Amino acid sequence: MDAPSPSHLSCRLGEAALLERLRAALPGILDRAAAMDAADGALPEEDVATLTSAGLLTAPLPTTFGGHGWGSESSSAASILEALRLLGRTSLPLGRLYEGHVSAIGLVMRHGTPSQREAAAEAAHTGCLFGGWGCEAPLVSLRLESGVLRGGKVLCSGAGLVERALVTARCGGEGQQQMVLVSIPKHTHRADLGTWTPTGMRASATGSVNLDEMAVGPELLIGKPDAHRGMAEYAIGMWRPLAVQLGGLEAVAESMRTYLRSTGRGKDPHQAARMGSVLTEVETARLWVREAGLMAESLQACSKRVEAYVNLARGAVERAALEVMQATNRSVGLSSFMRPNPVERQIRDLATYLRQPALDRALISGATTGLDLPEVVGTMWPTLSPL
Ligand SMILES: Cc1cc2nc3c(=O)[nH]c(=O)nc-3n(C[C@H](O)[C@H](O)[C@H](O)COP(=O)(O)OP(=O)(O)OC[C@H]3O[C@@H](n4cnc5c(N)ncnc54)[C@H](O)[C@@H]3O)c2cc1C
Repeated sequence: MDAPSPSHLSCRLGEAALLERLRAALPGILDRAAAMDAADGALPEEDVATLTSAGLLTAPLPTTFGGHGWGSESSSAASILEALRLLGRTSLPLGRLYEGHVSAIGLVMRHGTPSQREAAAEAAHTGCLFGGWGCEAPLVSLRLESGVLRGGKVLCSGAGLVERALVTARCGGEGQQQMVLVSIPKHTHRADLGTWTPTGMRASATGSVNLDEMAVGPELLIGKPDAHRGMAEYAIGMWRPLAVQLGGLEAVAESMRTYLRSTGRGKDPHQAARMGSVLTEVETARLWVREAGLMAESLQACSKRVEAYVNLARGAVERAALEVMQATNRSVGLSSFMRPNPVERQIRDLATYLRQPALDRALISGATTGLDLPEVVGTMWPTLSPL
């Protein structure tokens, strides 16, 4: 990796201190969550500023750039898992933004040239939020024609806040795609949050962005055309949204537990059965996400198996979350559908964030790998540590 910058290294916090700073920032983020959810087109600017001052925006940079290697160095696996879980537990929309930041920086660090990596690190050190925008709609697509972008993207989290967006643009023939790292000012007129009208994740500022007529020099092209296509890296990276979702799932479960304790209804056999099932599902999700995250971050060499494991984890976490939300609605009853009860928002956010691309295909892909492997069930996945 590139030469270290002494100024970056000198301000690098220890891993535990960084997580401690994040924990200290969480109450403020939680306090703002309801107001952010209530406002149309809210931009979680203060929350992102909080993450910046806590040192979280530079954590995904390799250690040589003054970061913690979150998402790029195996030794950081447990820390990134904990950070994503904590953020998801406090605010799923902010967790989504941070997960996009980590993933986009990871792609630039893996596919960029040394000078592109250096420039990206500088941007993160000055507080720029990164995002990864790949989604298009029937009438909205992005093309790169003679060094100029034409069109735009939809479902771009952090639209209006993200200052470095890693986008995919169609180029050449045969559906080739090129990754481009575009610089966009905050509050850009190119972002439109009017199209973001979901029931949950309202504060993730997931709008459409018009990138028409932006000039793109070679210094902004990340990797060769199709460098990111069909990458096991992309599928494996899906463990990170799962870690954020795990936090959201824990928050809903804790709301249910608190309700049952405060009302004294927990000893009723029906309520106790649901609580037992919720605790089981949370732990199931935690075990899947932990294994998937540790494998993904530390065992890139076993990528086919890790990819299959992450694909199966996606279904396991979805099932756990659906069960936890339904049990909570049934146990808490009508008040879990009423604002300002926080669990009402937690469930809306989680239900929306669970909608990630091609979940059915992930299950089938995991099954196909499982069928192809020579080992028997029980020994086919990489082992992380002795039992
Ligand atoms: C809060 C939030 C923030 C987001 N932010 C970003 C962002 O910053 N950048 C970005 O690029 N995207 C973002 N997205 C979009 C995300 O990446 C997915 O594109 C989106 O969530 C897909 O959801 P979906 O349920 O419509 O998926 P789909 O994949 O369309 O799945 C819907 C259903 O169709 C099935 N299905 C999928 N493909 C097929 C097929 N070919 N044939 C038959 N059935 C099929 C699926 O298995 C599933 O059952 C965000 C989404 C959310 C919820």
